[in-house]
Amino acid sequence: MVKAVVGANWGDEGKGKITDTLADQADVVIRFQGGANAGHTIVNQYGKFALHTMPSGGFHQNIMNIIGNGVAFDITKFMNELNEVTSKGVPAPQIMISDRVQVMMPYHVLFDTLEEARLAGKSFGSTKSGIAPFYSDKFAKIGWQINEFYQDDEIIKEKIDRIADIKDVLLVNLYHADPIDRAALFDQIVEWREQVRDYIGNVSLYLDNAIKEGKTILLEGQLGTMKDPDHGIYPMVTSSSPLAAYGAIGAGIPPYEIKQIVTVSKAYSSAVGAGAFVSELFGDEAEELRRRGGDGGEYGATTGRPRRVGWYDCVASKYGCRLQGTTDVAFTVLDVLGYLDEIPVCVGYDIDGEVTTEFPVTHLLDKAKPVFETLPGWKCDIRGIKNYDELPENCRKYIEFIEEKIGYPITMVSNGPARTDIIYRESKLSR
Ligand code: GDP
Repeated sequence: MVKAVVGANWGDEGKGKITDTLADQADVVIRFQGGANAGHTIVNQYGKFALHTMPSGGFHQNIMNIIGNGVAFDITKFMNELNEVTSKGVPAPQIMISDRVQVMMPYHVLFDTLEEARLAGKSFGSTKSGIAPFYSDKFAKIGWQINEFYQDDEIIKEKIDRIADIKDVLLVNLYHADPIDRAALFDQIVEWREQVRDYIGNVSLYLDNAIKEGKTILLEGQLGTMKDPDHGIYPMVTSSSPLAAYGAIGAGIPPYEIKQIVTVSKAYSSAVGAGAFVSELFGDEAEELRRRGGDGGEYGATTGRPRRVGWYDCVASKYGCRLQGTTDVAFTVLDVLGYLDEIPVCVGYDIDGEVTTEFPVTHLLDKAKPVFETLPGWKCDIRGIKNYDELPENCRKYIEFIEEKIGYPITMVSNGPARTDIIYRESKLSR
């Protein structure tokens, strides 16, 4: 049985924690897209970890952790993460890296950095992890599948020359930077291929067998619907699809095998980078939510950047859940809102005087103003509560109000950062 854990919104919804929670019953956890540009924060008995590349099953010894072919694979960051985890006392995780995954090259990161600097104030808010140049090259068919590193050295050197001939034109003439050091690039490939050699495998075949054996497989998404290159807030999006549907491609499994799609949505909104964010908060109110948010504040797991924060957005989340194909919503970080007397919820967008509950295309989104309904707060700490019925009435009303507005069943409520801070709930919307 294959399950996906994906985001409804802009990312940072708490997917890492939900994957870590669900991993208790999983045999395989697989990353299917994105790269080291976003992170998951996981709190467990070994400490607090910011994972960027390693699947969240890395803390469970019985789980096979897979880097799927859809990932933008940064080998150096991955090896550093693996070393960090094991150096903190976590037993070495089981790892498999797809023989078809493509590798993040040093020049991808360089191009990302140079382009952000060139765009200056008009930039996309990239984390400069090389993601856009990487996926551009993948689809321009000048990327590197990891299996290519194990060919004859002469073939590798020829490919380096072919790519550097193209890249150098831009490096020298557009960015006024140094050309690619071809010998250094070759040495880097040689170093990398030895580091990861033992982990490489035929992932789609492995998963085919795992499915036949009835194993539980978790697809772990990065970012959320708003960052999808087709369905998100283009062009302020990422360069690979964070939708559950893409899990089939980025892992190499049939689409009909994905039986459960757990879409994670945070009890308030947050976003990193530029782009429309209709229910955004500013000033003191924003600062307070940011400071109290998440586990130790809403600051990027990868960059440390302060995240933009806002009230819960039912319009964006309904759309986000629909595009994911949601069977279950995991509603997270609810404990954080316990300080508020009342809580505004964005229930519609006013665009040129007309109110809609359907998420619009980007140029209309830029004009949208939030329409709020305000609910009473519950003014207490809900951490430690294990049963839904024990939540304060106003807290339950908040959950049920949002469930009705988004139209997808909230079957999990997360009331703290730890794996065990989870409340399961029956929903009348479950199908
Ligand atoms: P992801 O990328 O979707 O996995 O999200 P992040 O890890 O970037 O952000 C979620 C943050 O919220 C992390 O610091 C988590 O430890 C924390 N978190 C997750 N669930 C909860 C929760 O229910 N309550 C609190 N207070 N923090 C949570």
